[in-house]
Amino acid sequence: MSLDQLRAHTVADAWRRYDAVQAGRDGLNAFLSVDRDGAHAAGRTAESGPLAGIPVAVKDNLATHGLPTTCASRVLDGYVSPFEATAVRRLREAGAVVIGKTNLDEFAMGSSTENSAFGPTRNPIDPTRVPGGSSGGSAAAVAAGVVRLALGSETGGSVRQPAAFCGVVGVKPTYGRVSRFGLVAYASSLDHVGVFGATVAEAALGLEVIAGHDPHDATSADRAVPPLVPVLEGVRPLAGLVIGRPAEYFPPSLDARIAEQCARALDTLRTLGAEVRDVSLATTAHAIPTYYVLAPAEASSNLARYDGVRYGARVDGSGPGSDLRTMYERTRSHGFGAEVTRRILLGTYVLSAGYYDAYYRRAQAVRARVAGEFAATFASGVHLLFTPTAPTTAFRIGELSDPYEMYLSDIFTVTANLAGVPAMSVPIGRVDGLPVGGQFMASHFDEATMLRAAAALEQALGAEAHR
Ligand code: GLN
Repeated sequence: MSLDQLRAHTVADAWRRYDAVQAGRDGLNAFLSVDRDGAHAAGRTAESGPLAGIPVAVKDNLATHGLPTTCASRVLDGYVSPFEATAVRRLREAGAVVIGKTNLDEFAMGSSTENSAFGPTRNPIDPTRVPGGSSGGSAAAVAAGVVRLALGSETGGSVRQPAAFCGVVGVKPTYGRVSRFGLVAYASSLDHVGVFGATVAEAALGLEVIAGHDPHDATSADRAVPPLVPVLEGVRPLAGLVIGRPAEYFPPSLDARIAEQCARALDTLRTLGAEVRDVSLATTAHAIPTYYVLAPAEASSNLARYDGVRYGARVDGSGPGSDLRTMYERTRSHGFGAEVTRRILLGTYVLSAGYYDAYYRRAQAVRARVAGEFAATFASGVHLLFTPTAPTTAFRIGELSDPYEMYLSDIFTVTANLAGVPAMSVPIGRVDGLPVGGQFMASHFDEATMLRAAAALEQALGAEAHR
């Protein structure tokens, strides 16, 4: 478990890689803005600390001083926040150097980063493919070696799925573990700040730095953060650990090659001393419809603030129809892309009188059942769950044109957001040269056990995880 590579990766190394991969015909388009001379960080970055001098990248829906915060939306084009997200502030206080803001699906709505108003990000492993999303820019920046640590956000899988697609580590902590202050709201009850790392230990260190109570976020948990960087000891470091294998995450329709990679990972976990137990999470089948009622409902309310008055872009009316309502309509029609518009419409619909009980209230009830099922499983003596992170490897840019198909990308990840439990993706192998991620989920606030198992698996698989 070495952090030596992280410490050796300098800001100069980051710019060298950035210049080689960001722009041009096969350029990754992973970044939306950069702080080349450090001017925007002046006076804010600590000179010492656990991340002293280490370059990091930040998803462009986290507020930062100096650099724009656009959420990859025209509606916020040019917007610079007067305050900074707590997670970003904590990185800087630990000495990290924020080199830039990364591309995403507009307002974090999507699974491919194709919904960015500023063009898609490409997958560094195969530039004809998506990096996943919505935190595709951060995942690509780590996979391409620009940075070894980056921040992302999750509402339904936006850190884990791109981590899987790009062959890096992605962690979504427990809801409340990391402050959401300064994270632009998509669906507040599901939103989390998460981290990407080149390795488990690096992601763990990043999480340790940003975690902890914050009075600026009412949902932030007032709990001590234990040491998270995993320490592996003994020949069977996972002895005594029970890992559940939920049948619903291994349906007969699952790509056999992904299933095979997972089986190998489970065998390795057994070799490391863990007991693998078959379990069932029957509500999984309802997770996607539940998520795609609740997330748009909250989004429709959260995004009402982009009205051309308070933030960012305004499209003024002209001529006789140039009243306030016309300005709102023109600003919002011009400012939001197709997917964001679809979510606002969906969300408004499920919250409207007459449909509220049939959709929104029902989805809330199913969400409680999903959470209850996780709680019962962990209470039964299972410490962790292991599943594939995504049902496929990275698809081609433009390949999924039906929004519903895109939503199915999140089938194995939305459950952890609905339940608020910590979850992460770690590279376990490749199919046709494309990375496959394995997912661990743990009970509330038990990130440490999850990171320990993932680190042991990473170490045992070694180079196998990348071929
Ligand atoms: N793909 C999911 C969505 O579009 C999840 C996105 C996210 O986690 N931010 O809502």
